[in-house]
Amino acid sequence: MQSYQEMSREELLKEKESLEQQYKEICKKGLKLDMSRGKPSKEQLELSMPMMDVLTSKTPLVSRAGTDIRNYGVIDGITEGQEFIASLVGLGPEAYDNVIVYGNASLNIMYDCIARSMLFGVNGSTPWCKLDKVKWLCPVPGYDRHFAITECFGIEMINVPLYEDGPDMDMVEKLVSEDDSIKGIWCVPKYSNPMGTSYSDETVRRLARLKPAAEDFRIYWDNAYCVHDLYEDKADQILEILGECEKAGNPNLPIEFCSTSKITFSGAGVSGLITSLENKADILKRLTIQTIGFDKINQLRHVKFLKDIDGVKAHMAKHAAIIRPKFEMILDRFEEELKGLGAGSWIRPNGGYFITFKANEGCAKNIVAKAKEAGVVLTGAGAPYPYKKDPKDSVIRIAPTLPPMEELKEACEVFIVCAKLASVEKLLEA
Ligand code: PMP
Repeated sequence: MQSYQEMSREELLKEKESLEQQYKEICKKGLKLDMSRGKPSKEQLELSMPMMDVLTSKTPLVSRAGTDIRNYGVIDGITEGQEFIASLVGLGPEAYDNVIVYGNASLNIMYDCIARSMLFGVNGSTPWCKLDKVKWLCPVPGYDRHFAITECFGIEMINVPLYEDGPDMDMVEKLVSEDDSIKGIWCVPKYSNPMGTSYSDETVRRLARLKPAAEDFRIYWDNAYCVHDLYEDKADQILEILGECEKAGNPNLPIEFCSTSKITFSGAGVSGLITSLENKADILKRLTIQTIGFDKINQLRHVKFLKDIDGVKAHMAKHAAIIRPKFEMILDRFEEELKGLGAGSWIRPNGGYFITFKANEGCAKNIVAKAKEAGVVLTGAGAPYPYKKDPKDSVIRIAPTLPPMEELKEACEVFIVCAKLASVEKLLEA
């Protein structure tokens, strides 16, 4: 295939005319499609409906330890719930005490951790709100809602390039060791949002061995896609962070987060925080003021339904069977229509919820606007960057899970035409 970059001006003008014609036809269809958010589809949510039947009015609502789970208390979760959360992130049942089981949203835990550090400091450090400056490392492209949290607390965000094996560790090591106003880093170690790539063992070890200038620097290890493999036979494996940090003599460095938002119900799952006992004690000091305990009935419901990590894996295979064809359809169409054309690039992820399309510099906003006009909503261009500023205006996050296949096919065709047209327009501008 001849790439756009190899075409003469005349050839490009001809291509533009043909693409504009296709675009006009698409616009006439009056589509209303949404590829913007990483939500499970209705079909995926149906997979967990049997969970609603595991507890009935006849079920004894008593935990393994004998606690009446209808009542107040047990702030860090019932033991079987703690073991369940530990198992999701690759820890054994003996790590249960490192876990706090929260309510339904891990994002809420992350917000709360930063809010607490702002107001009260971390394990006795100066509250961050009393410091002149607080900074945070943001591997990019990354998750827009992470950046929204740090932005809302006025924390200065520093972009760090995210490569296929993780963040630029030379940059992370240098910055963290030199600047004690840097207090944390956002990490999505497995099937990152939006790149879909995972951290190499070397990256995890270098993170675990960091020597931060700030004693209250923490790695925010958001393991949101810990069991979200698309292929059983080529699942990415990442090193377990708590163990690596302990080995490196940095046991208090990581705070890990996860949830069942994309295992059972996004709006009614359970979430958890996993960290050292010292960090946990510091967190509990404030958490016991905030609440007398989270929803333990939902914890039991999840444990009874999914049972253990093997039960989770079997359940996730059902999710994969639904979403894998959606990922493959998009990626296959990209290969058929865009490979070698010089209109952008992408990575084939082994799991997670997203595909990242890297358009040519200066094209992302144009593609998203064109798709919108044709009735296809994409995540805003710039969203995967702090302050919504993509310095190259290039990255577009594609979320294939929510729309039914037929809609997704239409949306994909719209995307392809918009991506081609935006590239040709850019080249003709030059
Ligand atoms: N972290 C990442 C990386 C995510 O992609 C998402 C969902 N899009 C979340 C956290 C949200 O998780 P929760 O539903 O547990 O708040």
